[in-house]
Amino acid sequence: MDDILIRGATVLDGTGGPPQGADVAVRQGRISAVEAGRTETAVQEIDATGLMLAPGFIDIHTHSDFTLPLNPLAEAKIRQGVTTEVVGNCGFSVAPALPGKAELLADYLSASAPWLPFTETDFASYMAAWPAIAVNTVMQVGHNTLRLMAMGMENRPPSARELLHMQEMLAEALDAGAIGMSSGLFTPPGLYAEPEEIRALGHVLKQHGARYSSHVRDESHAVHDAVAEAIDIGESCGIHVQIAHLKLSGIDSWGDAKELLGAVEAARRRGVEVHCDQYPYDTASNPLRFLLPPWIHEGGMDAMLARLADPYTRARIRQKLVESGFTNFGRLQSWADIRIANSPTAEPGRTIDELARERGQDPLDVACDVIVADRGATRILVRSMSEDDVKTILADPLVMVGSDGPCVAPYGITGQGKPHPRLYGTFPRVLGHYARDLGILGLPQAICKMTGGAAAALGLADRGTISEGKAADLVLFNPDIIADRASFDEPHQYPIGIERVIVNGVVVIDRGQHTGALPGQLLRRRGTILA
Ligand SMILES: [Zn+2]
Repeated sequence: MDDILIRGATVLDGTGGPPQGADVAVRQGRISAVEAGRTETAVQEIDATGLMLAPGFIDIHTHSDFTLPLNPLAEAKIRQGVTTEVVGNCGFSVAPALPGKAELLADYLSASAPWLPFTETDFASYMAAWPAIAVNTVMQVGHNTLRLMAMGMENRPPSARELLHMQEMLAEALDAGAIGMSSGLFTPPGLYAEPEEIRALGHVLKQHGARYSSHVRDESHAVHDAVAEAIDIGESCGIHVQIAHLKLSGIDSWGDAKELLGAVEAARRRGVEVHCDQYPYDTASNPLRFLLPPWIHEGGMDAMLARLADPYTRARIRQKLVESGFTNFGRLQSWADIRIANSPTAEPGRTIDELARERGQDPLDVACDVIVADRGATRILVRSMSEDDVKTILADPLVMVGSDGPCVAPYGITGQGKPHPRLYGTFPRVLGHYARDLGILGLPQAICKMTGGAAAALGLADRGTISEGKAADLVLFNPDIIADRASFDEPHQYPIGIERVIVNGVVVIDRGQHTGALPGQLLRRRGTILA
């Protein structure tokens, strides 16, 4: 007998095809039947009349390695219908942390992973110690982490020995089952790497059948070159490339989304395997210190803090802001577009503009003072994109959906501050606001981007579509009411319209309530396949 039978759902199977009425049965963690008017019964029957059934959503770009061990229920994600999280993005991973260097890594990631305890570990031990959680996890190793381990915050090319060390640490992670390597070439120390360094690591990825994802070198003035660089790594190494959170930042770059997507499509026509991901908002989030020029960070945290205390350095930064705006974000409309998300010293929700007026100070001095006061741990939100570009990128079938966020909860240690609403709202926002309400894309296409399309981009053979034999990751939602509720002022709010979520055949969300079940699996790469 089947464990679960979902009766009378309108099924969107994840391929992008039209909705179809069917009953879907689940047995021992797998989909055992998809048929209309199934006569057999099951242990648990779910009446899905009026609801849509889709494969579990794949959050293809997250930073939940910073929080899932603290929040194994995976609250903010599972309540969006997310059943698989891809972690280790933008060049950041929690492992490896070499002997004596856990503290260095913790300090480096303080604005992203302020609550996570860091321990010395290689990648295999890190994966082995991954806790039981509610969602499936796919892991990447981060280039920033590898470079930090091999050579600290040095602004120079690696020696042959240091490069070999990075290659060895990468191979260790890939052998352990990581899907690939992410880079964050916009952030130090990754930004000190020349393309040759990434290519040398790309060859290791190729040898293992592994993948490359990249937060590209620049998302503002030089975004076209930066995307071309990522594509070139894929093309020259013969590996799959995923371009992280595709966007055009800063008012000088707005309006170029079609051209940017054209470069990605042209690469695909040449045979390069390339996909992108995106979060559906016009606002980004980053550590405040990464808005400053790259040379600020040379030599590490203490060197940076000493520089920022110096008025001459601040004058140099001010000059740079006048010339070309913020590093990576370009020119913004005003300092009111930068808002505190989380900070040990500044109040979440306040903009730099407001703080400057209150303190009677220049906004750049406020920003530098905040960074100095909390050793760079302040995280901010930056309104830097045009809504038209966001929509154009969202409508493209090569672009998958990724929250770019860690999994948090409205309670407990991760419930602090005013983080980006994408942590709670990404998937329902695409389905409700953009697909249903604005008609930017069809519902089958939107679901495909979150499921079958994402699985194809990841080489995830076992998931992403509703068909017999696939792992039973399923989402039952109400298409008429599904919506995000998280806002910039009140981000800690779950979405509405997600009725049930099933992970590996186990009900985790039941009529909107978390059952406490932890059926997620750590998915390991075997060759080019992830299972
Ligand atoms: Zn990123």
